Amino acid sequence: MDNKKKTGSVRVWRRIIQVISFLALPGLFTSIFYAMKEIYSGILAGTFSLSAMFPQLLLFLGSMIITILTGRFFCGFLCSFGAMGDFLWYLTKKTGKKGLKVSEKVDGWLKNLKYVILMFIILGIWTFHLGNLDSMTGPWAVFGMYSKIGSLPSVRYLFTTGGLLLLLIIAGSFLIERFFCRYLCPLGAVFAILSRFRLFRIKKERSKCGSCRLCTSKCSMGIPLYQYDTVTSGECIDCFECTSVCPRHNARANGAPVAVSAVSAAAMFGLVYAGNTQAQMVSSQTPVTVQVQSNTGNYIDGTYTGTGQGFRGETKTSVTVKNGNITDITVLSYEDDKPYFSKAVEKVTAEIINSQSTEVDAVSGATFSSNGIMESVANALNVSYNNPNSTLKSEGRGHHGKK
Ligand code: SF4
Ligand code: SF4
Ligand code: SF4
Repeated sequence: MDNKKKTGSVRVWRRIIQVISFLALPGLFTSIFYAMKEIYSGILAGTFSLSAMFPQLLLFLGSMIITILTGRFFCGFLCSFGAMGDFLWYLTKKTGKKGLKVSEKVDGWLKNLKYVILMFIILGIWTFHLGNLDSMTGPWAVFGMYSKIGSLPSVRYLFTTGGLLLLLIIAGSFLIERFFCRYLCPLGAVFAILSRFRLFRIKKERSKCGSCRLCTSKCSMGIPLYQYDTVTSGECIDCFECTSVCPRHNARANGAPVAVSAVSAAAMFGLVYAGNTQAQMVSSQTPVTVQVQSNTGNYIDGTYTGTGQGFRGETKTSVTVKNGNITDITVLSYEDDKPYFSKAVEKVTAEIINSQSTEVDAVSGATFSSNGIMESVANALNVSYNNPNSTLKSEGRGHHGKK
């Protein structure tokens, strides 16, 4: 296959993998980031357990090892947030706009912002608990709500802090290619550090370039490629635009990009699958102890159904009340991503039954799923519950389970 065909097929492959990843694993980037958070927080709190955190370790360490070996294939091929950036930039180009010209110097400074954000999250939020990124303060959380094909959540999420940040990111992505990835993404900062050690690199001999700087002007991440014979920058996301546009076939990848990208994508999907399987095994081995404290509880005996707003849509539960107490909660349906929901469901339902209250602690890293379960139980029992991710009011929608 000649070079032009090869680079053309990489572009096609990239788009296909981006679409598949967007549809199949839209929240993968948040999963990796929150896996990092849970490992870090577990170590910090002294609660880290190899067996309990195996799925998180598998996902986080696996994606880091893939990055060290092959570079940022995740960013170029698999990340749905990055794919959104590519799509918005495509619209800018399609409409004949040029976007915003940022000088090389300013671009270089702004790229350091993501490291500052990463440090703030690790120290400020994860270490000193100055805020909670699981809540509506995060643009990723709001993106998760709108990235589900076939459902259109309320526009009110756009008027949360996370929603307004997402709108700013979208506006920035129309103006600057991969705006969020270049300047703001904390996960991108981790990948950028690790990918400096990558084995798989783009090569271009400057002696063959003459005065051409085409690849520099087309680089998705604004890397000054004219300075390199071999691209060592951690900013490179393996998009292969440089190899595609080079008129002299001088910019090329060392390795077969199609094969490496396919293997990287398969490895990531494998990690997610193995992590989910392990999470389910751990979950099914964890005994749930539920003690109903009295037989004179506050609720009217019966079985009720209710709904609540989870991360991606409605969670529906059936709640059984005997002798005035909540004795059983069964999830009838949910729309959240399985890894998050599985993480929340046993702990939240057990705590609701133990405390006989719908206001229990959300599970860290699965706040939205936890809120959806709590709200659906409250809705079934007709008790009030203020779900921050809901447009619905629990009170008055469900059956009358409260005495
Ligand atoms: S930099 Fe962040 S948002 Fe961009 S592709 Fe990478 S992980 Fe996704
Ligand atoms: S160096 Fe090439 S592969 Fe890397 S980000 Fe720039 S255009 Fe994409
Ligand atoms: S596009 Fe090709 S010829 Fe032009 S600067 Fe880049 S590597 Fe050199």
